[in-house]
Amino acid sequence: MFINGYRLYRATLGCLRPFRIATGLQENCEILLVELLTDTGHVGYGEAVPIPLLTDENLVGCEWTLQEVLLPLLQGKDPWCLREIHNDMLSLTRSKSARCAIDVAVHNLQAQCAGVSLSRLLGAPRTRYETNYSIGICSLEETVSLARQFYEAGYHKIKIKVGLEPDYDVERVVKLNETLPAEVQFRLDANCGWTRHQALQVLRRCQEHRCRIEFVEQPVAREDFEGMRFIRERVEYPIAADESVQNAEDALHLLEGRCVDILNIKLMKTGGLLPALKVVHLARAFRCQMMIGGMVGESEISVMAAASLAASLDFEYADLDADILLREGPFEGHGAGTGHLGLEVPHRVWSDEGAVKYPGLASERVKLVHEWHC
Ligand SMILES: [Mg+2]
Repeated sequence: MFINGYRLYRATLGCLRPFRIATGLQENCEILLVELLTDTGHVGYGEAVPIPLLTDENLVGCEWTLQEVLLPLLQGKDPWCLREIHNDMLSLTRSKSARCAIDVAVHNLQAQCAGVSLSRLLGAPRTRYETNYSIGICSLEETVSLARQFYEAGYHKIKIKVGLEPDYDVERVVKLNETLPAEVQFRLDANCGWTRHQALQVLRRCQEHRCRIEFVEQPVAREDFEGMRFIRERVEYPIAADESVQNAEDALHLLEGRCVDILNIKLMKTGGLLPALKVVHLARAFRCQMMIGGMVGESEISVMAAASLAASLDFEYADLDADILLREGPFEGHGAGTGHLGLEVPHRVWSDEGAVKYPGLASERVKLVHEWHC
């Protein structure tokens, strides 16, 4: 089997509701889709969701990298030689989400060739994962109303975006804690929005109110590893790194410094499934817990790959709601949670029976930008 063609698409996917975090507001997500073709008639999909503040790249640069550098590299390549493909990609670009798109598409080709699901290819013993549901920064009324709605739908883990205004953060979390039943736990994500002092103030006040916070993600700036440890040593809630952990080097630094309790792995940060393994194995060596995450804008393609990775390595926590925060996915007739990656609240569920075959791309939201076929 060898790669004998590819197509690159740009897709615009609308958010279900405007999603605000400490670093900005998202209403529509522009992403890149990669379609790889083989001489055996298999088709593998992957996607790139570049977020400048997280993956250090933008859409235009990522598109150029895929079109001019990475995709031409794949001409005639055997999809089973993925390590070699990664070595070549790393020698040419640091664009993480572009490398992720190729990695996931190649993994999907391998799964199709083997006639198994991606999760089975990775050795996952299960096909369901409990996920949280995320609420962006919004008014107190909307926060409470959404949280109530999600609890009534069956979610017991609710992720709350914070980090813009410390006093308001406390007010929202305390209100939610008082309003929702004791079985609901909250995951706070400040997206680098607090200073050390603010983080300490907010979290100590939450402690005084006995808020049921399962963990706190990225309380301080991405490069402030010492600040993560500072907070961890002074509050009772576990601390998770997201923006701070981009690769294995970051992970080692955080783990050796005892800065965190949990690492949030996202395929767009690691550059795909294969490089993510390095981070996971390091974390396990330090007895650190793992969480699987994703970016708003990721469709079922990436979320399925992320879920498969988490299931294969028994991650403790899952934030697998990226595609269900979207109004629609890139495929015709596949809405949020209705494609191959289903939703049985609070679980994401998928089939282990054979490789997935996606329907046609939805032409009103997905535009071809480049193609090659030999
Ligand atoms: Mg995060």
